[in-house]
Amino acid sequence: MPLQFYNTLTQKKELFKPIEKNLVKMYNCGPTVYNYAHIGNFRAYICSDILKRYLLYKGFAVKQIMNITDVDDKTIRDSQKEGLSLQEFTDKYTQAFFEDLEKLNIGRADVFPRATQHIHGIINLTKKLLDNGIAYQAKDGIYFSINKFKNYGKLSKIKLNETITGVRVKNDEYDKENAQDFALWKFWNEKDGDCVWESHFGKGRPGWHIECSVMAMQHLAEHFDIHTGGIDLIFPHHENEIAQSEAATGKKFVNYWLHNEYILVNGKKMSKSLGNFFTLCDLLTQGYKTRAIRYLLLSSHYRQQLNFTFQGIEAAEKVIEKFDIFFASLDEVKKRDNTVENEEIEKIIQRAKEQFEQAMDNDLEISQGLAAIFEFIRRINVLLSENKIGLKNAAAVVDFMKKIDSVLGVMHTEESVIPREIIMIAEEREKARKKKDFAVSDRLRKEIISKGYILDDTNTGYRLRKK
Ligand SMILES: [Zn+2]
Repeated sequence: MPLQFYNTLTQKKELFKPIEKNLVKMYNCGPTVYNYAHIGNFRAYICSDILKRYLLYKGFAVKQIMNITDVDDKTIRDSQKEGLSLQEFTDKYTQAFFEDLEKLNIGRADVFPRATQHIHGIINLTKKLLDNGIAYQAKDGIYFSINKFKNYGKLSKIKLNETITGVRVKNDEYDKENAQDFALWKFWNEKDGDCVWESHFGKGRPGWHIECSVMAMQHLAEHFDIHTGGIDLIFPHHENEIAQSEAATGKKFVNYWLHNEYILVNGKKMSKSLGNFFTLCDLLTQGYKTRAIRYLLLSSHYRQQLNFTFQGIEAAEKVIEKFDIFFASLDEVKKRDNTVENEEIEKIIQRAKEQFEQAMDNDLEISQGLAAIFEFIRRINVLLSENKIGLKNAAAVVDFMKKIDSVLGVMHTEESVIPREIIMIAEEREKARKKKDFAVSDRLRKEIISKGYILDDTNTGYRLRKK
């Protein structure tokens, strides 16, 4: 089956075809940097990461842009509270965001453009919309008139209510129920302090929606392939992005809109406003592994709500351990001296590969893809225990798993994770064990543990893995 995505715009699964033959241009709505992101936020970035990795797996080149919102009501308000300049304040949280991305093994976008570095482009787009009569000036800013854009509502399917149109939204927190005219440029008021830029139409600062239109068009194109974000961004943020961009260019803005669902805690959306959130740091200080947190966030389909529980992370830790043991077992084949190559292995790998790709091609059905990989691991483990895996077979299995992990990003695939020093101690211990010198064998085992590794005895010898 060819690659398909569920497109929010058409509300159905569609074959994926990039505009340029082999290059996919993708824009992800990034964070507003006014605090530490929580793992509910990171689900969106994990989803776009899996999407990007799978496109790369399929052989596409990907140009990925993720914006940093570093000026809005919240960043201005909280920077003033902390007594920092807007830039000092947002730099602090931008840095923290990048560190968390790295810990979660989320690949870097090609560019992370910041709103405050695109003021010129924002002013130009606003001017264009004023010139063509779609925007208008009010007392407190320049607004987009949604009545003048005939396709308003095509993404969110929201109906324009005649009695409410012409009503303007003043804050960056938007009404989720009603379509309203929204600010492209907000004139300065004293609450903004020194967060102000000059423009032809008066001193002020940009509205929230316009930054994404400007940065997407500047760094990708006026018309590009994929735009992603959480479902809470469909309306009004993405609806407004489409309106501004298409009203200015007369071209279709984006071909495929992909939206991810929330993380729930006890049935409610994990969010800052409800206070039911965990940051990555909260979970790491409780001793959970980043790989397990990443696994938990990627293991259900992006369009399904994900219920966050500690049992869920613990189950994810078990999966990570399963991967580690699997790699250690494959490595152990090298120590066997009576291995015979098994002709079935290529077929087993091929079958698992097809099943994984079939699932992922179907709108990134990752749980089915993972099920295929677990079934594969189970079959190979049986063959390993029967000593029916040769050296070349083991290498082929490792290669295949590495390819799968280029999408998942949760395995320790490098054999070098076990340093030589540890292997030497393990070898010493194995000798002691064979001589039934259990005092020495126990001491060496403890030494291995104290250095951060685990040694398991198996029926064919031993296996090492990282703690
Ligand atoms: Zn955005």
